[in-house]
Formats: sequence, structure tokens, C-alpha cells
Amino acid sequence: MIDVAIIGGGIAGLTAAQYAARANMSVCIYEELALGGQGLLIADLENYPGFDKPIQGYELFEKMEQQAKNFGVNFEYKKVDSVEKCDNHFELKLGDELVEAKTVILATGAKHRALGCVGEDTFSGRGVSYCATCDGPFFKSKTMYVVGGGDSACSEALYLAKLTEKVVICHRRDRFRAQSGIAKRVMEHPNIEVKFNTEIKEIKGSASVESVVLYNNEEAKTYEEEAGAVFIFVGSLPKTSVLDNLSELEKDAAGYIETDAHMMTNIAGLFAVGDVRTTPFRQLVTAAADGAVAAHFAASYIDELSDNVYEGLKKN
Ligand code: NAP
Repeated sequence: MIDVAIIGGGIAGLTAAQYAARANMSVCIYEELALGGQGLLIADLENYPGFDKPIQGYELFEKMEQQAKNFGVNFEYKKVDSVEKCDNHFELKLGDELVEAKTVILATGAKHRALGCVGEDTFSGRGVSYCATCDGPFFKSKTMYVVGGGDSACSEALYLAKLTEKVVICHRRDRFRAQSGIAKRVMEHPNIEVKFNTEIKEIKGSASVESVVLYNNEEAKTYEEEAGAVFIFVGSLPKTSVLDNLSELEKDAAGYIETDAHMMTNIAGLFAVGDVRTTPFRQLVTAAADGAVAAHFAASYIDELSDNVYEGLKKN
């Protein structure tokens, strides 16, 4: 029986792991892909505290992995299939393997939401992408379209503008949702053209993307423009399927997991941290803070469990 099983090795999970291990708990992180999650793909991370120059996402995660190892965290690169709540502990199923844990911290993050326009699926991987740092270099010097008006769309457009002289960002409304500092840099960038009130209705091409059909929803005008690639950043969806069998788990209308201020869900001993939970501000630093809070209260929860058992023994 381990003290804390952490599902997901992004910044929230890694922070929870090092806090829990440092508090002398036995901790294992289960990660099915690579440590770092979505943060691994950040090209220039410029707002994480403590770095006076932008750093690459992978650099931060190399340091965090080492830091967690120094505190004694175990890493298992495996997929957790499901989590079952038993009396005072949890059972995690990983294929044929069964792991018992006193507490579980879910740190699985979120995945990209699809735009849903015609041609998106057809050209996915052939000019349609959800990751600028992964795929941007393939389309150097071509016209790159970006869809969305949030922080992701704006910061990724700024990255792509280093690779080509023409980035066109299309947003369905007349103003950005992104933080004003990032939005201002987009508006002022010489390589970025901003099209507000504009939706991408269709992505066309042959071997790869060649054009986009745009709709100006203010003027009700449809037109077609040449395009070499389309990068889609229209928000995210929480990754909660590992908890599908816990039907009593409370989620918000968008499917994000509800927690209290201690990051505990409505199921005792089950915590959720980072992008997978309902939170007003999704940043690396807030996800890291979630992890620290969850680890701290996972320790308190385990202490209370032991006290209850001890009290029970005394009564008997
Ligand atoms: P987001 O903030 O939810 O923004 C999604 C954008 O996509 C919105 O502008 C939305 O339009 C648009 N959109 C949604 N569905 C659409 C559709 N079907 N067609 C066209 N447009 C659609 O998502 P995000 O930008 O990925 O950011 C997610 C979280 O991560 C946020 O909390 C953000 O602050 C954080 N983040 C922070 C940074 C940073 O600090 N550097 C970087 C990346 C992400 P409307 O505006 O009209 O709703």
C-alpha cells in the first residue's frame, strides 16, 4: 500500500509528488507518455517565477524530474486504466497489475478541443496541427493560420511569427480572450494579421493544406484564402476517463472536476490538481500550487485515517 498515487506527470503531478515525498510519504507517479504534459511543448516560458530569461518547457521539466527523484519519488511509465474506491483506500488497475494507495491525486490535465470544421480531420497531421512548437518548423515561410482568441492561440501565434512572415489569427469574436499583454503583442506584431469576427468554415487541400474558407460573421461574407497550415487552439477538454467508474464524482458542466480549497474532490482521499479541475486561472504556476496544496492535505488525510484506526483500536 503506497501513501500517494499520482496519475499524470505534468507540473501539477510533479509538484504534488515532490511535496508528498519530502513529507516522508511513499509516492509513485504514473505517466503514460512523457513527463511535463502540455507544458513540455512550451517554446519560450517567460512567466514562470524565478527565471529572468525565457526557458524551454522541457528544461523546466528535466529539473523538476530530478528534484522529485532527489526526494525519493518513484516513476512508473504506465497507463492507469481505472480507479476504485475501497473502504479506506483506492485500487488502481494497470492492465493485470493492481496497486493499492491510501490517497490518489489526479493530475491528468486537459487535451485540445477540436474546431469541428470541414477538412479538420482529413488534414490533421498534413497541415492541421494543435501544437505550434511540434509542427511549426515544417511550414517555415508559408502562410500559417491560427484559430482561437485565448492565451494559447495568441502565444502560439507569437511563436509561429518567428518562423514565417505571415501568420493570420482568426477569432470568432471582436476581441481577444487572452491576457491583455499577450494580446497587445499579437496586435502589434509585424508578421501577424488579426482577423476578428472570422470563422474557419473549411480547410481544403490535396496532399496537404492549401487553402481555408473563411466566414466574416459581421458582414456575412464567405471567401477563400491560400494557407500552408492551420493551427487550432480553441480551448481544452479535461482528461477524466480514468475515473469514469466513480459515478458519484462531482464535475462542473464542462466536465472539469470540482474540488474544495484543499484540492479534495467529493470522494474522501481523492484529490484533483491542475488543468483537470475547475479553476479560474490555468497557468503552470497555479497548477504547481495545486499540487503542493493537494500533497499537504493528502498527508493530513492519511494522518487522520491513522488516528481513526488508532482510536478504533483503543475503543476495542
Ligand atoms: P481558452 O482560454 O478557453 O480560449 C479558447 C478560445 O477558443 C476562445 O477565444 C474561444 O472563443 C475560442 N473558441 C472556442 N471554441 C471555438 C470554436 N468552436 N470555434 C472558434 N473559436 C472557438 O483556451 P486556451 O487559450 O487554450 O487557454 C486555456 C487555459 O490555459 C486558460 O486558462 C489560459 O489562461 C491558460 N494558458 C495560459 C498561457 C500563458 O499564460 N502564457 C498560455 C496558454 C494557455 P471565445 O473567446 O469567443 O469564447
